Amino acid sequence: MEPKYKRVLIKVSGEALAGPDKFGISDEMLLGVAAQVKEIYDLGVQIAVVVGGGNFWRGRTGQSIDRATADYMGMLATTMNAMALQDAFEKQGLPVVLQTAIAMTQIAEPYNRKKAIKYLEENNVVIFGTGTGSPFFSTDTTSALRAAEIDADVILLAKSVDAVYSADPEKDPNAVKYERLTHKEVIEKQLGVMDITAATLCMENNIAIHVFGVAEKGNMLKAVNGEKIGTIVM
Ligand code: UDP
Repeated sequence: MEPKYKRVLIKVSGEALAGPDKFGISDEMLLGVAAQVKEIYDLGVQIAVVVGGGNFWRGRTGQSIDRATADYMGMLATTMNAMALQDAFEKQGLPVVLQTAIAMTQIAEPYNRKKAIKYLEENNVVIFGTGTGSPFFSTDTTSALRAAEIDADVILLAKSVDAVYSADPEKDPNAVKYERLTHKEVIEKQLGVMDITAATLCMENNIAIHVFGVAEKGNMLKAVNGEKIGTIVM
C-alpha cells in the first residue's frame, strides 16, 4: 500500500515521552516512539521531527524568572528530548540529523532549511531542536513553521491523548470525540489541539494536522496509511 503522506512533520509532545509519572523521559515511551517512526520510515516516508519540552520545563511555569528567560530554558528542554530521540532513532538503525535553531555546534548542526530538505531527500530523519529559537513561541508553532518551510504534507501530532475532544475526556464523561475538524473550528472552539498562533499558521498555509495517541503501538503507521484514527484537521 502506498502511504498517504510522502513527507511528514511529526510533533512529539514532551508529555508523550514522559510516561505515567509525567516528568522526564521514560525509556519505554521513547523506545515506543522510535519503533513507530521506524515503521513509517520503512515505507519510504520522509520524516522531520519537532519535539516539545513540557516533560522538563515550560516557560510559563517559571515564577521568579523572566518569561523570555524561562522560554529559552524551555527551548533547552526540547533539546534534551531531541538528543534522546536522536539516540533512540539511531538504535533503530535510522540515519538522523539534529538541527537546532539556537547554535550548539558540539551536539547539533545549526538549523538550515535547504540542508534540512536535502537531508530529507536523502532519507535522513531530521530532528529540529530548540523550537523556533525565539521566546514567546511554542513547539506547536515550531511545527507549523517548519512544516511550511519544508513543505510537509501533514503535521502528525503524536499525543498522549488519542484524538481531539470537545472537553477533557478524563474530566468530562460527555466529551465528544471529533474525527474531522477545520482549522477555523479548532481556533473558534478553542479546542486546545495546538495553540492559536500555531493553528493560525497551519490555516494560512493549508497544513493538515493529524492528531493521534502515540502510546498505542502501530498508530503512527495507521495515520500514515490513511486509516481512520484520531482526528484530522484540514
Ligand atoms: N519554547 C519557546 N519558543 C519556541 C519553542 C518552545 O520559547 O519556539 C519554550 C516555551 O517556554 C515552551 C517550552 O519551550 O513552554 C517547551 O515547549 P512546549 O511547551 O511547546 O512543549 P510541549 O508542551 O509540546 O511538551
